[in-house]
Amino acid sequence: MSIKTISILGSTGSIGCSTLDVIEKTNNNFSNGIGDVKFEIVALTANRAHRQLIEQAKKFKPKMVVLVEKEHGDELISELKPLGIKISFGSDALIEAAQMQSDMIMAAIVGAAGLGPTIEAAKRGANILLANKECLVCAGEVFLKTAKQNGAKILPVDSEHNAIFQVLQNPNEVEKLILTASGGPFLNTNIDNLYNVTPEQAVAHPNWQMGRKISVDCASLMNKGLELIEASMLFEMPEDRIDVLIHPQSIIHSMVSYKDGSFLAQLGTPDMRIPISYCMGWPNRLQIDSPRLNLAQIRNLEFHAPDNNRFPALGLARLAMRLGGSATTILNAANEVAVNEFLNCKLPFMQIPTIVCKILDMAQGNGNIVALNDLSEVFNADEWARAKTFEELSK
Ligand code: NAD
Ligand code: MG
Repeated sequence: MSIKTISILGSTGSIGCSTLDVIEKTNNNFSNGIGDVKFEIVALTANRAHRQLIEQAKKFKPKMVVLVEKEHGDELISELKPLGIKISFGSDALIEAAQMQSDMIMAAIVGAAGLGPTIEAAKRGANILLANKECLVCAGEVFLKTAKQNGAKILPVDSEHNAIFQVLQNPNEVEKLILTASGGPFLNTNIDNLYNVTPEQAVAHPNWQMGRKISVDCASLMNKGLELIEASMLFEMPEDRIDVLIHPQSIIHSMVSYKDGSFLAQLGTPDMRIPISYCMGWPNRLQIDSPRLNLAQIRNLEFHAPDNNRFPALGLARLAMRLGGSATTILNAANEVAVNEFLNCKLPFMQIPTIVCKILDMAQGNGNIVALNDLSEVFNADEWARAKTFEELSK
């Protein structure tokens, strides 16, 4: 029997809620004598969903909650203080939450905003359950070095990387990593029609329920581009040994091919609770009730090559990987700004990769692609790219 402590950065999001669901079911199993692990929550954090955070805190009784935007902070104070829960506000409080002692931290904030607190948890050697791929995309080398120096284990939550993590045997015998991609909602949309798609169409992912930002990235295939960078960092694999394969059913979550021609894959229903629970239970598996895969019912699994013409984001990510250093930070920052503008109906969908490409070109031309040695250099590159993207958008 063991009690594990966990903090969840971004508990009100899609990954955060799925994590709480796994915790609730695992703790119920524990009370019913099934399974020998129980989770206790140290900290929960949210950006501005104050009501949801209050309800989560009442149910799961963390030691601490953080709300970044303190607009409705008085409600947290009046409802949670009597329960003995510590309440903090602002982005500095995310660092405080990450520093609190816990066995593991679920890094589920969206975007580069997750970087600071996740690195803080790495500094104290916690197991990092990494959903926030931006840590590896924006600050891969700095983040990995911090984790290594402090003995923090990185456990990939992203389903593709979790699949590879599960089937990776001797890394020296690996030929290639093959990341699968559903292709998103516009897999079969004609290029002419891609110019007029709406945010609501873009976030309507066929297989996965996710936050709005990552959903748009799935629609543009930028998510797969970010995942190429993530895989390269995590598994120390060069860009030309990672392939992307469109697989609309999202049943095979990724594959590893070996030098003898063997391919190993991880399969499952598209349910993020599977990779989340794998990381939470590692090195053991937790008992969870996700719907079981029924291949006889699914019958057909399809695969084809991605269309780089309709989805230029993949090529941009590969270019950034080859350039190295700040290039992937810049790609990510420009994309975050552009996606936000698209979600606010201020930028057409197909302009997202166009603007990212422009900013990358500009960075190359101006000598802004440099090695990043510490977090402040990462934040400088991120800020530069955001400012340039806004400047370009205002033209
Ligand atoms: P989401 O938008 O549903 O949730 C984001 C969470 O982060 C929320 O709790 C929100 O309050 C918090 N947040 C947002 N901006 C913040 C800020 N500036 N400061 C502090 N907190 C902030 O996102 P999601 O879909 O859960 O994705 C979270 C991360 O996991 C992303 O990096 C995403 O790429 C990755 N991921 C998600 C999925 C998925 O299925 N949803 C799969 C793989 C990877
Ligand atoms: Mg993924």
